[in-house]
Amino acid sequence: MTHSRQRNVSAARWSADDVALGIDDLTRPQNQVFGVDVFSPAVQRQRLPKDVYKRLQRTLERGEALDVTLADAVASAMRDWALEKGASHYTHWFQPLTGSTAEKHDSFFGPTGDGGAIAEFSGKELIQGEPDASSFPSGGIRATFEARGYTAWDPTSPAFILENPNGALLCIPTAFTSWTGEALDTKIPLLRSMDVLSRSAIRALRLLGDEDPQRVFTTIGAEQEYFLIDEQYYYERPDLQITGRTLFGSQPPKGHELDDHYFGAIPERVLAYMMDTERQLQRLGVPVKTRHNEVAPGQYELAPLFETSNVAADHQHLVMQVLEQTAPKYGLVCLLHEKPFAGVNGSGKHNNWSMGTDLGGNLLDPGDTPHSNLVFLFFCSAVIKAVNEHQGLLRATAANVGQDHRLGANEAPPAIMSIFLGSELEAVFDAIEAGEGDPSAPGSFLGLGTPVLPPLPRHSGDRNRTSPFAFTGNKFEFRALGSSQSLGLTNTVLNTIAAEAIDALADELEKKLDAGTELAAGVTEVTSETYKANKRVVFGGDGYSQEWADEAAERGLLNLRNTPDALPEIVTPKSIALFEKYEVLSEREVEARYEVLLEQYGVKLNIEAETAAHIARTLILPAAVSQLKVLQETGLDAQAAETKGLVDEFYERVLKLEELNRKPGEFSDMEHVRFQRDEVIPAMDAVRETADRLERIIADDLWPLPHYSEMLFIK
Ligand code: ADP
Ligand code: MG
Repeated sequence: MTHSRQRNVSAARWSADDVALGIDDLTRPQNQVFGVDVFSPAVQRQRLPKDVYKRLQRTLERGEALDVTLADAVASAMRDWALEKGASHYTHWFQPLTGSTAEKHDSFFGPTGDGGAIAEFSGKELIQGEPDASSFPSGGIRATFEARGYTAWDPTSPAFILENPNGALLCIPTAFTSWTGEALDTKIPLLRSMDVLSRSAIRALRLLGDEDPQRVFTTIGAEQEYFLIDEQYYYERPDLQITGRTLFGSQPPKGHELDDHYFGAIPERVLAYMMDTERQLQRLGVPVKTRHNEVAPGQYELAPLFETSNVAADHQHLVMQVLEQTAPKYGLVCLLHEKPFAGVNGSGKHNNWSMGTDLGGNLLDPGDTPHSNLVFLFFCSAVIKAVNEHQGLLRATAANVGQDHRLGANEAPPAIMSIFLGSELEAVFDAIEAGEGDPSAPGSFLGLGTPVLPPLPRHSGDRNRTSPFAFTGNKFEFRALGSSQSLGLTNTVLNTIAAEAIDALADELEKKLDAGTELAAGVTEVTSETYKANKRVVFGGDGYSQEWADEAAERGLLNLRNTPDALPEIVTPKSIALFEKYEVLSEREVEARYEVLLEQYGVKLNIEAETAAHIARTLILPAAVSQLKVLQETGLDAQAAETKGLVDEFYERVLKLEELNRKPGEFSDMEHVRFQRDEVIPAMDAVRETADRLERIIADDLWPLPHYSEMLFIK
């Protein structure tokens, strides 16, 4: 099979042919596609009876429970709109604990009894669905004999239409619960955490003298990194198909050392793909904004504008889905795995996070008035406290089998949770902590300019790419999330720990105000005390360095390098108490999540190990043996001996891996999972190490897998 040159040539050739979307005059309204497939507030206003629309909006603005009498009217308008768009079916679209989305399609059409059919869709069908829940992971919440689960409409995330060349589907974002009312998904806890944060933040704002905001929303802008490779390579790599990453592959002579990829010109085929993807996402109301090449060859990034957390989380799933589904149209495959290629930069998902009021204010924006500075200082200190106190929990939300190749493996960002404030802001906190200046005496903040605080720079100039949690002007950027991960759990945790810290600071401030302290002085004192108690988590240096690991250990910060180490942080008494206190997750719901995450890790690791053994035996070993035979027959003794040595070593290592793979155990059992981590992974690495050496000496036409240099550089 001398297929390698052939396939490389065909992979390198691409022309738009019949997939071209064409170019439109964007000044013409009919060519504006943003949100056209969304049952948006604008569409609702047009289609719903006036009073229904108003009642619905009121419900949403106040975050109140939905009045069921509204549902019939909304359902009927939604159905008509969907039918006009060609949707024959609808689905309750939800996010089970699998980490991805789920859908079960039902037709709008029901028989009339006289041989005809009419389109029906009632309020009840809009509000509630009953998918068979038995096949979704529940972490023990739901025994199989209680298979019932319910989906419940989330009116805060607008319904949308997914198009297919052969029809369309109305998708209704829903929450997913067991029949006992426990959350089986990632949306419910996120919504609960948003409520919790809103309550705490509003209470704090009142103390800070802000009477106007009624609700605080958390916001997320999630930057998505991904790889694209030609699909021919993908289908020749069982490891990529089955595990999402290459289990073998020797390093190419050229990596990203030349730094010629980051922000470089985007190859034509890739750009065509990006434009197609973005157009679809825009139709779905996802505010995609930025595209560029990423650091690694073959790696790219897409970033939307920020939105309210639960909408952003839903949209993030759409982003991943559209990225993956569009690639084949361009002969590509989109890899969302955190580490598709060893030795090459991995992919993350930067979670930009902030808190904003219903009046449009951003609580993490330093602003330019003394008052907005006070608000900022208060909330920023709360975030510092939250991250310091729950660093382990936050770290655990970024743990999965792919992430173990990034966090804690000398790649960005490190597994140690620390906060980067930027030198200017750090200087401000240091000054406040040192008690410099007196807020009641204007101008007394030494060297800090204005009466209370300087107008802080909106966009702090310095950047620190090595920090997992960085302040970037008016938001924090949590960079530890992996490219394949859902935003749900991380943001549930972020919101809840922030709420707890806000409450703690508000308690302190309240005491001071009651004792007669002036507001500005009170906030300064609370800021100073909070910063002093939590500043060990603030770090502005190189997060990759060994010095930081050492220093972090001295500061008492956690360094949980892998998933089995990190996940138990979810179920510590402290974490459970936090979730229970705020009613974001019950103890059972917390434990369920831990169990599901642990099992996913174990199962995925096992799939990798089995796949590695299989490829080693059925693809690589035969290739090596063929090479050996040729060398022996040709009488090239020295070369034959070299190859034989490697073949023998390889065989031994494969046997060892196979033996370990046979060891029985439960993937939800921590002891077995630790065995996988400590024994199976090293055995896999050993097999790979020999395989990668074989790859460098075996004839190209005998080697059964596409090389890194081909997959990464032929575009
Ligand atoms: P940079 O990372 O270079 O600072 P941007 O400032 O454009 O780039 O922001 C990156 C991401 O952060 C975008 O998705 C953006 O929408 C998001 N973002 C900006 N402001 C906020 C905010 N208040 N809350 C959450 N995300 C935000
Ligand atoms: Mg960024």
